[in-house]
Amino acid sequence: MLNGSRAQGRDTPWGYPTIMLQWCATTHHQWNLQPTMTDHNRPETGDTPALPFGGLKIDVGAGGASPFGGLSIVADSAEATPVTGGPATAIADGSPVKTKVLIIGSGPAGLTAAIYAARANLEPVVIAGSAPGGQLMLTSEVENYPGFPDGIDGPDLMAKFRAQAERFGTRLFDLDVDRVDLSGRPFRAWARGVEFIGQAVILATGASALWLNIESEQRLRGRGVSACATCDGFFFRDKEIAVVGGGDSAMEEANYLTRFASKVHLIHRRDGFRASKIMIDRTYGNPKIEVHTNTEVAEVLGDQFVDGLRLRDARDGTEQRLPLQGLFIAIGHRPNTEVFRDWLETDEKGYLLPHEHTASRIGGVFIAGDVADHRYRQAITAAGDGARAAIDAERWLESKGIAEHATQTAW
Ligand code: NAP
Repeated sequence: MLNGSRAQGRDTPWGYPTIMLQWCATTHHQWNLQPTMTDHNRPETGDTPALPFGGLKIDVGAGGASPFGGLSIVADSAEATPVTGGPATAIADGSPVKTKVLIIGSGPAGLTAAIYAARANLEPVVIAGSAPGGQLMLTSEVENYPGFPDGIDGPDLMAKFRAQAERFGTRLFDLDVDRVDLSGRPFRAWARGVEFIGQAVILATGASALWLNIESEQRLRGRGVSACATCDGFFFRDKEIAVVGGGDSAMEEANYLTRFASKVHLIHRRDGFRASKIMIDRTYGNPKIEVHTNTEVAEVLGDQFVDGLRLRDARDGTEQRLPLQGLFIAIGHRPNTEVFRDWLETDEKGYLLPHEHTASRIGGVFIAGDVADHRYRQAITAAGDGARAAIDAERWLESKGIAEHATQTAW
């Protein structure tokens, strides 16, 4: 879900990487280390950890795979220190973390669920992931999230979500879940050796865009390479760009992007498409789209920003250069559901299947956001899902005698 867009100067839209790095080096640093937001950011013992990140360290020289645009948070040792509210705070005695509502995931769905659950006195715990914040952490300015008429940077928006969740008493642990046990209430999850126990669980782990995973693509992400046309298309007005993929997403994005771009190249590795016939016809019928079949992206060219592609013919290996300013990758998304697949139903793509509203087939286990949604994939729709899941969880807990009777004002 990248429902943001890039707006740092329309003629030179590539202020984006600077903002990301600035944010990584400042905002995220403060978020984890400075005890200014809530008491949950403070070490419980009051001791200063040996490492400022309490067992995690910032690797400034990391490769482009990091969602932090060159910075990554990595484990310092196999015996990582459990964390809450960011890596600064250790769990003192290693005992399980217990809560009425355990939320897994910290994108708009997870954090909105946390805000609602916290305000219903359910004292939620969020297992936020080692790269918390979800896909909005990978975008720059978000212009379509209501309430921010001047736009807001994706990471700043997620910092506000997090601060709002913490304000009402949410505890957050920046850890990745290794496994879960959803066999019965209470539900259990383990993250890097820490056990979490919840009377109800909300699964909001989102989905990740698939990438080509070539070095130049990763290096130029946010510098002309994007995985979200609705987020970033606006900034390619009168530019020549390309879309990679042969499914409905690629066709849809290519057609959408012709609203802005002077020309769109659709690049597909085979000569057969997965896309529906109507989308194929629409694409071939669009005079601004040139289709290149049997063609692979060998390299994204450009030093600071994209200025072209090196394309390879998949049949004979011959290569050609194509000058352009932007590249959209539309080769699908992967839902982050691996640890849940033994417990819950998924569709053929691996997305979780809710049974009724946000409820899963297991009573007490709820589903919110992109982890079950490959249709809308927007921050606002995920946030709405998070609110629905929290309300459903609260009503379920109330039916089990665990939560107080809900009132209109509880939310
Ligand atoms: P998809 O149907 O799985 O298509 C992915 C495309 O990306 C395929 O053409 C695939 O090529 C290509 N691809 C995958 N990995 C690649 C790689 N490493 N390098 C180059 N190309 C690669 O995914 P999607 O288009 O995102 O669609 C997902 C689902 O959503 C589909 O069911 C689709 O119908 C649906 N959808 C519907 C709409 C609509 O109805 N308006 C819009 C969007 C999506 P190969 O074909 O060679 O494997």
